[in-house]
Amino acid sequence: MQKPSVLSGIQPTGPLHIGNYLGALKNFVNLQNSEEYRTLFFIADLHSLTENFDSKNKPTQVLDIAASFLAAGLDPKLSTLFIQSQVPPHSELAWILSTITPMGELSRMTQYKDKADRMDNNVGLFTYPTLMAADIILYDATFVPTGDDQDQHLELTRTLVRKFNAKFGQTFVEPKNLHTELPRVMSLTNPEKKMSKSEPAGCVFIDDSQEVMTKKIMSAVTDSGSEVVSREDKPGISNLLRITSTLTEKPVAELEALFKGKNYGEFKKYVAQVTNDYFAPIRERKAKLMKTSEKVLKIFTDGSAQANKIAQKKMSDVKSKVGLV
Ligand code: AMP
Repeated sequence: MQKPSVLSGIQPTGPLHIGNYLGALKNFVNLQNSEEYRTLFFIADLHSLTENFDSKNKPTQVLDIAASFLAAGLDPKLSTLFIQSQVPPHSELAWILSTITPMGELSRMTQYKDKADRMDNNVGLFTYPTLMAADIILYDATFVPTGDDQDQHLELTRTLVRKFNAKFGQTFVEPKNLHTELPRVMSLTNPEKKMSKSEPAGCVFIDDSQEVMTKKIMSAVTDSGSEVVSREDKPGISNLLRITSTLTEKPVAELEALFKGKNYGEFKKYVAQVTNDYFAPIRERKAKLMKTSEKVLKIFTDGSAQANKIAQKKMSDVKSKVGLV
């Protein structure tokens, strides 16, 4: 019997930050290595066209995510790794799904509202969740590992699956989201907001040098007082504690005990050390991979051919269900 499928993607819109890693990529690797699932991970380049699209830099951004996937531990022998735009059924299915997607549901999406306020408000930004639904259900994905900012999109995907199945007969599987223990890493400069590529100053990027990482963490916004404890009125320290706990696999309470009576500066020095130690090997592997760009891209192009086989089969079923000849 086929294992349940896990699928997720990341947009090539710049280097990955530790929120992308701790909220998503780390989980991709764990799920792959569990060997309990059929795993598929892709570079969401079609999605990335909706944001400040930069055609000159796009190939480098795609290569950057490809190398990050491999450096973090994704392995083409265990997972299908591919590029979304190389698998045309994603766009085809997105169109069909758009015809059963209520405008009202799309207008309610918080990510759309947030992005439309900040950038060029294009139709692609509005229909982004329909393409995301297509990405997922083309492969009958049962689980989708993402940060919690994607929960609303997953909910819409489930709605569309139910709607399509009711209208045209059982075709798609309803996916569930899978979160890590840290589904929302907060910004270092504004710990009330999530860490986001759109606000680079608040991000620690996984390939920041040791010097830059240390500088960013040492100057992270902290709260009034001096106690290193996780509390609602201490969003800055709580965020650093959660990040450190995930990286060291030490419970937050143990870290609080370790820093009892010590000040924020001593704690931040420790956070910087732990973060550097964790990401240094990934950074080194990635730097090496970036030098073999053709080999890296070939891995993804080969993966796209595999993905096409699965996706095209599903599309023929969909087309016949909706009556396209
Ligand atoms: P994107 O860059 O929007 O394609 O996001 C890639 C993945 O990273 C998605 O699964 C997001 O949910 C996740 N992600 C983005 N920002 C954060 C964050 N600050 N904390 C946790 N997960 C995040």
